[in-house]
Amino acid sequence: MEYLKNKIKADGKLIGNSVLKVDSFLNHQLEPLFIQEIGREIARRYQKDEITKILTIEASGIAVALIVGLELGVPVIFAKKKKPLTMDEGYYSADVYSFTKEEHTNIAVSKAYLSSTDKVLIVDDFLAMGAASKGLVEIVRQADASLAGIGIVVEKAFQGGGEELRTNGIRVESLAKIQAFQNGEIIFD
Ligand code: 5GP
Repeated sequence: MEYLKNKIKADGKLIGNSVLKVDSFLNHQLEPLFIQEIGREIARRYQKDEITKILTIEASGIAVALIVGLELGVPVIFAKKKKPLTMDEGYYSADVYSFTKEEHTNIAVSKAYLSSTDKVLIVDDFLAMGAASKGLVEIVRQADASLAGIGIVVEKAFQGGGEELRTNGIRVESLAKIQAFQNGEIIFD
């Protein structure tokens, strides 16, 4: 998606040699019109898949997921990173290791919102090693729901998560795919 690549080139910042900072439009300050464009594109790619639920993870996946849900006319669930006391009727959970935060989190989704009759589209801002996506796939599996695929804003292909998911037969659509960071430059696919 050229629009997204141009935005990343203009406003993204490299941190070290593996992290892309997009705080000015996607991860901290949110640019609503930008997020609307990318959310619509993810929705367009899954338009014919009879999705019944969007599943993401808090916090930075929520804004994009909300637009996808709005476009497809379905509810959006975000996995919680800390199980609240109010989640008292049973929940699905999975362990996710974040290499950007260097910590393990047990994500949780209430059983009330995901069941075997659902067809789920997972949405997230980044795909790197694939831990977040795999945790969400695990939750879909626990619910015995079907998985239509994964919609990602930025895939860092050099970290291998996307390849592993695709090898396992999961459809992964990423709007921008980064092959490498080279001498401070972003090399897109
Ligand atoms: P993974 O679990 O695939 O290794 O990483 C995905 C998660 O880590 C995303 O939900 C995202 O929040 C965070 N993440 C991974 N790489 C980056 C990055 O380069 N920049 C930012 N801002 N977040 C990242």
